[in-house]
Order: sequence, then C-alpha cells, then structure tokens
Amino acid sequence: MERRPRIHIVGAGIAGAASAWHLARRGALVHLWEAADAPDAHSSGRNAAILRTAIPHSPLHQLAAESVAFYRNPSSGFCPTPLVQAHGLVLAAAAGKEADAQQAWLQDSSCAPPSRKLSAQELQTLLPYAASNDLQGWLFAEEGTLDVHALHQAFLHGALAAGAELHLRQAVTALHQQGQRVNGLIIADGTSHQADAVVLATGGWGDALLRPLGIQRPMVPRRRHLFVTTPTALVSPSAPVLWILGEQEFYCRPESGGLLLSACDSEVVLAEEGEQLQAIQKDAAIEAALERLPGLADCGLAHGWAGMRTFRENADFLLGPEPQLPGLHWAAALGGHGMSTAYAVGRTVADGIMHELGEPKLVDVPGFAGA
Ligand SMILES: Cc1cc2nc3c(=O)[nH]c(=O)nc-3n(C[C@H](O)[C@H](O)[C@H](O)COP(=O)(O)OP(=O)(O)OC[C@H]3O[C@@H](n4cnc5c(N)ncnc54)[C@H](O)[C@@H]3O)c2cc1C
Repeated sequence: MERRPRIHIVGAGIAGAASAWHLARRGALVHLWEAADAPDAHSSGRNAAILRTAIPHSPLHQLAAESVAFYRNPSSGFCPTPLVQAHGLVLAAAAGKEADAQQAWLQDSSCAPPSRKLSAQELQTLLPYAASNDLQGWLFAEEGTLDVHALHQAFLHGALAAGAELHLRQAVTALHQQGQRVNGLIIADGTSHQADAVVLATGGWGDALLRPLGIQRPMVPRRRHLFVTTPTALVSPSAPVLWILGEQEFYCRPESGGLLLSACDSEVVLAEEGEQLQAIQKDAAIEAALERLPGLADCGLAHGWAGMRTFRENADFLLGPEPQLPGLHWAAALGGHGMSTAYAVGRTVADGIMHELGEPKLVDVPGFAGA
C-alpha cells in the first residue's frame, strides 16, 4: 500500500491553513501545530480583508492573480458562501508627479489587472466623502474585499476533511534534525513528532525555530493599526475600497456602517509586542482621516486594533524549500498580501514538498471528490 507522506506545519494562520489544504488534497498526512487558542488569533484575523492583486512586484501579483481566480471560482464544496465582494478598488495618487510614477506600473500587465482611469467627477461620485480634488484614481472593478474568515475556515475544514489534524495551544519549541535533514519537531510538552517534511508558517515569529540550528533567514514584523469610524449614512456599504499610494499611504473601505481605515503605519516591532495598540497611532489616524476624508469630519473612531505584517529585506515572500536544510519548507514573510495570495502560497509550498519527496503517488482522499 502507498505510504502517505507525513507533513508537520508550524502555524495555522492563513499560510499554514492553505498549505495544509493543498498538501492534504495531494495525499499527505498533515499535522498543523498552532501555539494560540485559535488559528486566526494573529495576523490572519487582524487584517483589512482587502482583495488587491495590483502589486508593484510582478511575482507577488502573479501569486495574487492565481489565488483570486480560485477565490472567484473555488472548487465544488470549498465554501458555501461567496469569498469575494467585488465592490471595486480605487488606487489613487496625488495628481502630478506621484500619479505619473504610479501610472507606469498600474498599466503594466505583469503587475496589475486591467483598470480604468477615473475622471475627477467619477471619483467624486464613487467616494463622496474623500478629498478627491488633488487625486487621480484608477478603478479595479473586479476587486474589493475578501471574506477572510470564511476563506481561512474553508482551507482548514477542507484539510481536516481530508484527514489533517489541527492541534491548538501547542507551541512547537524545536526542530528535529537527523544528519543534514529536518525530520520532525518537538512541542512544548517535550514530545517529538516525526515528519517527512516540516513547513514553517510562523508569521511574525519568522525564523525563531531555525536560529538554534545556526541558520538565519531574517524577517521583521511591522506593526500596523486599523480603526473603524462610527456609523454614518454618508458611506454606502457597497462603496469601493480607496487606497491612496505614495509616501503617505492611506486606505479605507466600508465597515459596520462606517469606514475601516489605516494611516499605514509600519513600525518595526518584536512579535510579542506587534499587536499592542499604541494610543499615539489613534491621533495619527484621526489626522490622516481628516485630511483624506473631510466628508467624515463629524465621525469618531469607534474602535481599533494592531497587527503584524512580516517582511524580508526585499519584497519577496519566503516560500518553498529551505536551501540549507532539506526537509524544511517556508510559507512566511507574506507582508501585507497574505490573504490575497494564500491559495497560490499553499500551492507553491505543496509543489516544493511533493517535488522533494519524489512526487509520491496520489491516493484517494475523502472530501475532495469535486476538487
Ligand atoms: C493591519 C493589517 C492589515 C492587513 N491587510 C491585508 C489585506 O487587506 N489583504 C491582504 O491580503 N493581507 C493583509 N494583511 C496581511 C495578512 O494579514 C498577512 O500576510 C497574513 O495574515 C499572514 O499569515 P500568516 O499565516 O503568515 O501569519 P499568522 O496569521 O500570524 O499565522 C502565523 C501563526 O503561527 C503561529 N506560530 C508561530 N510560531 C509558532 C510555534 N513555534 N509553534 C506553534 N505556532 C506558532 C502563530 O501563533 C500564528 O497563529 C494585513 C496585515 C495587517 C497586520
């Protein structure tokens, strides 16, 4: 009988969940280890849920485009509700040099899907509360927001239906090595668990498990705050996302009768502190909102939170086999695009593992008849 490869994944955020789904679908016996009480306790449950595939870095755009094609038309039985709310995404920039600079990559098909440049009047009509006079905007009509909770749950449920096991409140404390190869891991209660391959999908905790083995893959978590305004009749629930590009980025989208907004702060933090809300950022968000959204001057901020976006030195994700350590694979450093790209992230990780293991013969996996 064909032996199913045993894969352990550290971290059950969206990167771990999507990797588990692809691997389970391809016949692996998957174990997901998550230190927190819930899979969405960290970045995957603290983000802005914006669906954006226009990214000025072609490899990331390709991952997002592949993912969004799946989110729009997922395999049968993946999720009972639509994952994409295509209310539109307006990418905007200050008229003049800034808009000219942005226009070049926005019209490059290796970085962005087709968009339409908006007239000043159209911008005003779509986003009546925004200060649109000095802005130029491009509309991506098919983008908008993602139901990130449903997406995360769908990856997890699909993986569990195919035999994966999710272990919550189980921190992985070390990797297990045999010779030059990673062949398992150790969890906080001291037990060892053997594996054919291990995936690090550790979000803001990055390469912490790798450092004791003398290898470093530097990544930094950066804290970003999100705030939600009090409800107002001025914001239509179907208004598009507005994302202002440039040095002082800012975005907002409808949420709970008001707007969810971010002044796009990006402070380097330790993972342990990455979700601590900083009062000073509330003042910065109010200031940025008053400048960008004069139509909402009478609204207050109802609540807010902070989360981590984790980056390598360049814009690339850390994806696939670790070159210095066979048996170890990455699904990390997804920056600010982890939700929009998760499907392709998981697919890339599964490809790398299956290639390393010599493409084990596929077995029939329950739960994927329609996939
Ligand atoms: C404010 C904000 C707004 C964002 N907006 C968007 C957006 O609009 N669209 C978009 O596409 N993306 C957005 N992102 C980015 C997106 O949220 C992240 O890229 C994505 O959530 C990263 O997923 P992850 O699985 O890598 O990390 P996480 O969700 O943080 O998961 C990593 C998990 O690993 C676990 N872990 C770590 N170490 C261990 C260990 N040793 N043992 C066991 N478990 C461990 C952690 O507990 C954690 O649950 C945003 C992020 C932030 C913070």
